[in-house]
Amino acid sequence: MAFERNNGGMGGGNFQRQMFSGDWKCSKCAGPIKELPFQPDPARLDQLLCRDCHRQNAPRRDFGGR
Ligand SMILES: [Zn+2]
Repeated sequence: MAFERNNGGMGGGNFQRQMFSGDWKCSKCAGPIKELPFQPDPARLDQLLCRDCHRQNAPRRDFGGR
């Protein structure tokens, strides 16, 4: 096999994730957001969360990723 799929489990390749850069503001801590891993919905620009707040907000679902 020429192609080896060396994926060490899920959630290890954030280098493959596309980032959208812009100038937004966190709705929680009012901190600046320069990058998002997704394209923000224009209708929800006032609901954006920075990385830290998003982390605290999102439920933990790590599949032993690490
Ligand atoms: Zn924040």
